[in-house]
Formats: sequence, structure tokens, C-alpha cells
Amino acid sequence: MSSPTLDRVLDAVFRVDADFCIKFVSDQGRKWLGKAASDPLPVSFLSLLHPDNVAGFKATVQAEPESFTCDLRLVKYPGDCWVNIRGYQLPIVHQYVLCVLDISAWRAGDSAFRHAAEHDDLTGLPNRVLLRKEIENHIQHGPGTFAVALMDLDGFKKVNDTYGHAIGDAVLIETAKRLLKSKNDEDVIARLGGDEFVLLFKSKDAVSAKEAASNVLLAIARPYDTAPHNAYLGVSIGIAEYPAQGDSYSALLKNADTAMYHAKNAGKNRISIFSTSDDSEDFSIKAAIHNGIQEGEFYLEYQPQFDIERNVIGAEALMRWSSRSFGKVAPDKFIPIAEEAGLMPFLGKWALRYACHQLKKFQRAMPDFVMSVNVSPVQFAGEAFDGLVLDAVAETGVNPKTLVLEITESTLMHSQVKTERALASLRERGIRFSIDDFGTGFSSLAYLTRLPVSSIKIDKAFIRAIQYQDRASPADKKLVTAMINLAHSIDLKVVAEGVENEEQFAFLKGSGCNLIQGYLLGRPMSAAAVMGLLQPLRVLDHA
Ligand code: C2E
Ligand code: CA
Ligand code: CA
Repeated sequence: MSSPTLDRVLDAVFRVDADFCIKFVSDQGRKWLGKAASDPLPVSFLSLLHPDNVAGFKATVQAEPESFTCDLRLVKYPGDCWVNIRGYQLPIVHQYVLCVLDISAWRAGDSAFRHAAEHDDLTGLPNRVLLRKEIENHIQHGPGTFAVALMDLDGFKKVNDTYGHAIGDAVLIETAKRLLKSKNDEDVIARLGGDEFVLLFKSKDAVSAKEAASNVLLAIARPYDTAPHNAYLGVSIGIAEYPAQGDSYSALLKNADTAMYHAKNAGKNRISIFSTSDDSEDFSIKAAIHNGIQEGEFYLEYQPQFDIERNVIGAEALMRWSSRSFGKVAPDKFIPIAEEAGLMPFLGKWALRYACHQLKKFQRAMPDFVMSVNVSPVQFAGEAFDGLVLDAVAETGVNPKTLVLEITESTLMHSQVKTERALASLRERGIRFSIDDFGTGFSSLAYLTRLPVSSIKIDKAFIRAIQYQDRASPADKKLVTAMINLAHSIDLKVVAEGVENEEQFAFLKGSGCNLIQGYLLGRPMSAAAVMGLLQPLRVLDHA
């Protein structure tokens, strides 16, 4: 029976007597059982069966002794395995031949086996095998674009080396828990091995995956009390999007890995989206901004403002970030991130103080120079905003009447008693407020008259509509005129921003607009360049 061919196809062939005592086992079978030729074999075949399967096996044989077949579990080092047994009776000798085929790998339907094969022992998370299945399944049946984020802990090796594997394992388990908490129900977290994890975002593109992954940065940034001295870790995250940045499991993982290394190289603890060019979009949230503040990467530029006769009257301070890792980042990009990360009160306070210092310097050249500073709604939510402004004014000794705070309509709309009180107290000291981006929100006359606002700043979208590339919009012109008239009727001054051409300027002048800001008369520039605009005036003054 143990013909060489059969022996090769089957994992084991046994001959057993009527009581299932083993009389013979094939060479291949010995090997499969992990026994050397000299090792003793168990006496009974039944002792190889999983205890749960013994009775069932006997019943099967009894029911059809001539020829039977069944699938059951066998106890075998290093763990149970599933086998298919085909048995044939040898009638004269009252023995059975049992042909055994290991079908563990085929038992996809058995959840216990499948679970073990598809999950990570340490964390219980899906492993590489299941991740691959999920991704391939999603490629076949999914709704289209999705993204994978490959995450590699920063600083894990040090924890592992310093405190040993037991602590290292505890940190990985804790990491798995944090990752599970920071994901959506439909998304999948898997552990690839070591300190590498993958988050599969089933219905996000790379950009929204990046936004969602910022939760992961924050979750990992919390101290780990599983390690001595509350270890601090970080995580570098690389994102690739299907199908644009990989149309298969391996391509996606490879590109996410490249992006992850990019994030590591850029200084770790950040998110990077895969890109074939060098201008890959990456963001470090808290860490990079925090770092940037300490490294002096933030500075202000000043865009001059003019009266309708084109004389400089002041400037708007605009925040700039020249990041060591990312180069120049536009405020429209980093301010929302700073707001979300809770850093805006800090940055805003810095900008305010810095602008006041610079204002003092400008006023040496032009005593009534007016500085406008932007204030984010979140700054009002913080502690005692008015105190902070008054401190900056006191510290620099500038005349509060030369400071204008630009606030958004949303600040006023959601204003609470606290905000209104801060506005009123600052207004009492002479500080003025201007409504930025006027016309884009839901300005109501009610709050314009109720709150201590002194000017509106018409949003650049309306100014552009007056005249842009040979196109003029009469309706928008009427709208701008109406806004100016409305503001004047309640004693508010009007600033136009984004004035780029002479047609716009002429129209605004004709409509009675008070102040002009825009590329036509001056781009945002350094303090030195603003000084350059003021010096000739001084010369004239002295002349
Ligand atoms: P904003 O307050 O509406 O600032 C005006 C923006 O328009 C500036 O963009 C300026 O560079 C741009 N601009 C000026 N003239 C022209 C023009 O003629 N044409 C066009 N197309 N654009 C013009 P920037 O500097 O990128 O600032 C973007 C936004 O970031 C600002 O919009 C403001 O909301 C915010 N921001 C900047 N600095 C600060 C700050 O210190 N604190 C706060 N809270 N927000 C700031
Ligand atoms: Ca502004
Ligand atoms: Ca504006």
C-alpha cells in the first residue's frame, strides 16, 4: 500500500489493527509526525486524534468499515492539524489502511484555524495574510478609491533595547489598542511585524486618509505608562492611494513604505503621501509646528495698506512658515492644522506680540502707522484674550489706536458672552476691529451695529469680480457698491483686499472705498521693504 507514489502524495499512510493499534507507518508519515526512524511510535492511532474526535472516528469506521472517509483533527507538534482520512478494510487480516492528507491549509472554513493563521499572536490584530486578503478583496469588490497608511513607530527600538522584550511587547499591545481606538469601524488595522502597522482606509483618498491619520499621530504621542519613565514614542506614516499610487497589494505597500521612509527622513513623527516627484505633500502636525516655533521658523510679512490717494497708511501682518523639512508652507495650510492641534493660541499670541514690536519700529518712521493683525476664532476661546492683547500693547508701548484686529464673521456668529466682553474691553482701550473676508459669511446688520467693529474688509473674491481678465460683472459691482454704502451708513470704514488692477482701483475709488490692499500697490513683504516705502516720506517730511 505504501507505494512510493502514494507516499509522495499523501502525508502519511498507517496500517492499524481492529483496535487501531499502529502496525505500520510510511516513511513520509514518520517525517510528517516529526519522528526519526529510530523514534518509537505511539501504540494506538487513537492517541494521535484530538480527544474531541475519537468517538466520531470510531463511529465512522463502524458505520462503513469497508471504506470510509472523514475530516478530523490530529494532535501533532507544534499544534493540532486538520487531516482527511480515507480508510480501507483488509478483511482477512482484520486491519485497516488509513491514508492521511494534511488539509490544515485548506480548512479556510474553520474559524479557529483561520483566525490563528490570519492574526498576530501578540496583539491579536489581523496579520499580513489577512491584510492582503482584505486589500485584494477590496480591489475586486470595493467602491473604488481607497488608501493604505503604513506606520512605523519612532523610538520603539530604543524602548525595546533599554527595557527588554517584555516591556517592548507591552508597548506594542498598547499601540495596537490606541490604533484600534483611532480608526473608523469599516477600516482595518493590521500588524505587519515588529513595530510596523498598516491602516487600511476603505473609502478615503490619500488626502482624507492623511487627515484621518493625524489622529494616529496624536494617539501615539501620548506618553506610554506601560514603559518605565512614561516613554514617549512617535510614528512615521506613509500613505498610498489605490489605484493612482499602486493597483495591487504589493504596489500599494511598497509605495506606502517609500512614503513612510520619506516621513522618517523628513524628521519622523509625521505623515507623508507617496509621490513620484519630489514635491510629495507631507505634514507633521504638532511636532513640526512645535519644533518650528522653537527653531524660529515662523516670521511675519507685512502687506501695505493705502488710502485712496495711494499713500501708505499701515500694513497687515501675515504669518509665514519657512519649515526646515517642508520649505515654505502657506498659512491657509498650516493655520487650520495649528488650530486643530491646539497650537493656534500660542502662535497667535506670538504673532500679536511680534507685530506690536514691529509696529513700534514702523512708527519711528511714520508715527500714525496702523498695524492690522489677524485673530483666529480659537484665540477667543482661550483664556483672557483681552489681557493678552493689552499685555502686548503695554510691553511694546504702542498706541492702542494704531492696532486693528481682523476677526472673521464666524468669530462674531458664534460669539459667546466671553468673546463679546473681550471685544468690548479692548474697544474701550482704543483697539479697533475689522471684519475680515466680509461678504463670505453670514454678516448680519444686527451684530455689525451691536459689536464694537470699526471697519469691514470686503473679501477679495468680490474685488476680483469687479474686473478680471477683461471680464467685468455689473451685478458684482452693484454688490460691492451696496456693501460700501451699507458700511458707511453705520459709520464703518471699508477696506478692499486683493486689488490687483487699475480698473478695480478706479471703481473702488469711485464708490467711496476708504482703504486699498492688494498686489496692485504692494505684495506682502519684509519689514525692511516696508521701511523702504516709509523712508521717502520721511525725506519729504524733512524737505
Ligand atoms: P487674509 O487675512 O484674507 O489675508 C489676505 C490674503 O490675501 C493673504 O494671503 C495675502 O497674501 C493675499 N493677497 C493679498 N493681496 C492679494 C492680491 O492682490 N491678490 C491675491 N490673489 N491675493 C492677495 P496669505 O498671506 O496666504 O494668508 C492667507 C490667510 O491666512 C489670511 O487670509 C489669514 O486668514 C490667514 N493668516 C495669515 N496670517 C495670520 C495670522 O497671523 N493669524 C491668523 N489667525 N491668521 C493668519
Ligand atoms: Ca486678514
Ligand atoms: Ca481676507
